[in-house]
Amino acid sequence: APVAFGLSFDSDRGEAGGAAPVYNKNERLALAEQRRRLPIYAHRTELLYLVETHATTVVVGETGSGKTTQLPQYLHEAGWTQGGKLVACTQPRRVAAMTVAARVAEEMGCRLGQEVGYAIRFEDVSTPGVTKIRFCTDGVLLREMMSDPLLLKYSVVMVDEAHERSLATDMLLGLLKKVQRRRPDLRVVISSATIEAEKMARFFDTSNVRRPRAHAELPAEGAAPSRSPALMSVEGRTHSVQVHYLEAPTNDYLTAAVEAAVAIHREDLPGDILIFLTGQDECETVVRLLEDEGRRLQRSKLKWRLKPVALYAGLPAAHQLGVFEPAPRGVRKVVVATNIAETSVTLEGIVYVVDSCFAKQRCYNPLTGLESLLIAPISKASAAQRAGRAGRVRPGHCFRLCTEEDYESKLPATTVPEMQRSDLSGAVLQLKSLGVDNIMTFEWLAPPPAETMIRALETLHALGALDLDARLSRPVGTQVADLPLDPPLARMLLASSELGCTAEVLTVVAMLSVQSVWAPGGKREVDEAKARFSVAEGDLISYLNVWKAWGESGRSKKWAVAHRVMHRSMLRAADIREQLQAHLRRLGLRQGSALEGVSLLDHAEALTTVRKALAAGMFINAAKLTEELAVKLSDQQDMGASVYRLVRSAGGDAAAAKLRIHHSSVLFRCRPQWVLFYAAEQNDSGWYEMRDVLAIESAWLTELAPHMYRLVPLNPQLRR
Ligand code: ADP
Ligand code: MG
Repeated sequence: APVAFGLSFDSDRGEAGGAAPVYNKNERLALAEQRRRLPIYAHRTELLYLVETHATTVVVGETGSGKTTQLPQYLHEAGWTQGGKLVACTQPRRVAAMTVAARVAEEMGCRLGQEVGYAIRFEDVSTPGVTKIRFCTDGVLLREMMSDPLLLKYSVVMVDEAHERSLATDMLLGLLKKVQRRRPDLRVVISSATIEAEKMARFFDTSNVRRPRAHAELPAEGAAPSRSPALMSVEGRTHSVQVHYLEAPTNDYLTAAVEAAVAIHREDLPGDILIFLTGQDECETVVRLLEDEGRRLQRSKLKWRLKPVALYAGLPAAHQLGVFEPAPRGVRKVVVATNIAETSVTLEGIVYVVDSCFAKQRCYNPLTGLESLLIAPISKASAAQRAGRAGRVRPGHCFRLCTEEDYESKLPATTVPEMQRSDLSGAVLQLKSLGVDNIMTFEWLAPPPAETMIRALETLHALGALDLDARLSRPVGTQVADLPLDPPLARMLLASSELGCTAEVLTVVAMLSVQSVWAPGGKREVDEAKARFSVAEGDLISYLNVWKAWGESGRSKKWAVAHRVMHRSMLRAADIREQLQAHLRRLGLRQGSALEGVSLLDHAEALTTVRKALAAGMFINAAKLTEELAVKLSDQQDMGASVYRLVRSAGGDAAAAKLRIHHSSVLFRCRPQWVLFYAAEQNDSGWYEMRDVLAIESAWLTELAPHMYRLVPLNPQLRR
């Protein structure tokens, strides 16, 4: 059935049609002039005054008002970067850090990486001594605090998009509050959407707290800034957006999105379209469907030609930047994006938003200890943000792919902060290494659930990173914290050093750290590509084969294209691998290869060593094949998917969690008895789908983690 929206948007043809196609106008304003036209410009003096006189300033403003690109520049122009200090601006998303830095460099007329730079994990594009403004992810700044706990490099830290409440942002806010006590000269600027602004200001208000004497030693330059935060709001320049809903619910929002975009396109009015979906696969699928539609429409007499482009986190940087270029005359850009496009990046020329009303969200169940990605309805606050993207240039339209009734009843008002739905073991470890010993009394914007904290401590203890008193163990704990990796990955690297197989484990860890190894394409093509490298030991070992073959081709792009491997991902993996290798050297850890020069006869044994090193980091996510349910499943749609159970705990929720191997895994059709998995995704029927799977032998669990797994004699009643 074609998508039917409750409201016909024929009715306002006049309004939309009458407006000039601003996005396509020939006259190019000089960048400086553009800057002066931004709503924030009128507040420049006031903002600088507030930052000067207040330890913390909270800035509220519509998307596009100029907070991210302008504020750091104002601070730079006003002298905050004199004396060798930097202005930092943190972003929850890597893409945002990169694109915003590129834009600001352009505005300042410098090469990216000179006065303006960015840093994301494994990629630092800045020049010490030259860079003045540094955009970085919140996670990168957190990590920097490990070597520079008072952030002495920076005069101002701007925490951007604080309302998104990413885990790292929440940690950063708590830590910045601590740093401010020791560094009255540090200025904190927080940019946030209205709903969270008051909370942020209250959190940073220390005007009633007496400063402990010990901290008064640092000489304050000039008058001390006020300790109650300033709150300032920048009015945006947005147009009205008319919201439309579906008349009947759909269970296929991809098709609905394509139909909606085509319907909009057929109206033949100017304006780009922005579609919100949940992930890379969906974006690529819809782009392909729209390309087909575009070809079909070519012979129609429409004024505009469809040009779909994808925008998601793993996209090659070059493609990403293409998304921001205005479409040439006669071309209608359709940006098919994940929630990246919700607030953090600015897309010009969008007049229509098509919103699936879903997003991939991290969720965590402390009872099972499983963190997974789940496609879930977004909040009403997010939906409003998404709709707002249509009103940047002129009155716009937002098409929500759900009924109004479902919108009202099924979407929560606000999004739960990431910290309350994440595995916190990495966060706890980092805080411990920053000297925050009592995690429970750390000042959080909102405290994490107690069970999650306990589970995090247990996990870290199981990995050997914490001792029995929950203190960082030496050397394992400090080393795991020191590596820029999730604790399980860091742990397997350490194990590989002991077992003499760093060469292999470095490769696996690097490949797990890139977004996607396989070039996007149809499921069958990708499956065929994978099959060439597949081994019964699982995905992680298959990665080794890809790496080896790519290396033997001389890291050839031609080879990569022919084998449907993403060359760019491989190059990035190679870069990450080198950086990690340098970290291991710095930690003084022994490096070696288990497989190099090994005869065919000894190959299996050497491979076992590698698998054990991997298992040493992942043993917590162990699953065992069950027989009973596999039979029941086989008459369902996806035959061959076998049911697994978590091994870790015997009863309750953990036992109830149903797992199966994700269809993208090379082990999808195999049924290894025992597996470890690196990540899980939860689908809408509640299944946890394991990705990046490693087949193991059960004996390894008791061997590697005797504190966690014990051999229990089988209950004779269960044995049939
Ligand atoms: P905010 O942070 O308040 O949402 P930004 O500082 O990101 O706003 O953007 C301000 C303006 O700068 C936008 O309205 C847009 O005109 C321009 N801009 C930002 N990023 C880009 C870009 N990558 N390409 C072109 N223009 C951009
Ligand atoms: Mg911004």
